[in-house]
Amino acid sequence: TSFGFKIVPEDEKESLVKNVFDSVASSYDLMNDASSLGVHRLWKDSLISTLRPGRKGPLRCIDVAGGTGDIALRILDHAREKYADRETTVEVVDINGQMLKEGFRRFKKTMYHNTPQISFHEANAQELPPSQFADNTYDLYTIAFGIRNCTSIPDVLKEAHRVLKPGGTFACLEFSRVNNPLLSLAYDQYSFTMIPLLGTILAGDRASYQYLVESIRKFPPQPEFASMIRDAGFTTGKDVDGGAWTDLWGGIACIHKAVKI
Ligand code: SAM
Repeated sequence: TSFGFKIVPEDEKESLVKNVFDSVASSYDLMNDASSLGVHRLWKDSLISTLRPGRKGPLRCIDVAGGTGDIALRILDHAREKYADRETTVEVVDINGQMLKEGFRRFKKTMYHNTPQISFHEANAQELPPSQFADNTYDLYTIAFGIRNCTSIPDVLKEAHRVLKPGGTFACLEFSRVNNPLLSLAYDQYSFTMIPLLGTILAGDRASYQYLVESIRKFPPQPEFASMIRDAGFTTGKDVDGGAWTDLWGGIACIHKAVKI
């Protein structure tokens, strides 16, 4: 079976995405490194360095589609190492319990385990339960390589806007559109052949990785996504530190930042 969006009705997408990540959870970190040749680490570092968590004091953060906690760990390490901040907190939210379990296991080996700085929550980015995730709560909302897996991007953005405090920052790291035709060709060759192949070899699961590659192609290009963010009530203008978006590696990935008005 192929997990491409072409043959998957939208109403089945959620359970499908859940199955995909169930099946890749235990090999997820290894595959991430293998398929991006470790570059996802640099991109995640770029995200954190543009956000500089801890710089203006402790932050209350929510990392949505947080998976195994890569972003959360970077936020907490950055705040501690650069600003001696041990009060910043991150709530990791994911729809998939298996990914969260891997994250929890990973944090057990860190100094944050069993502290109020980190917690894991199973929930859908499109409808965060208001009893758990109240309006106007967070200083920072992050979502890395997660929003393209969601059925409705506008619903995710609406929820991000709801839970952020006024003045709070929305930051999204996602695969995006490559503008250079030569780079685009090479990238297509690589992702459509190498990634499913690596999926087969390393995880014994070609279909899930094929799905991941196809989902990247379906995601809206930078200007379109920026306008969806504005439609949700955010400002992405010059007043946002770093501008509306920053391409990484010619647009293979991109950071979008916005502020809740
Ligand atoms: N943020 C992590 C990282 O950068 O390593 C994980 C990214 S992983 C590619 C995508 C994650 O999105 C998976 O853990 C998946 O379970 C989660 N996800 C997919 N749809 C979701 C939804 N509707 N709500 C919350 N999480 C979702």
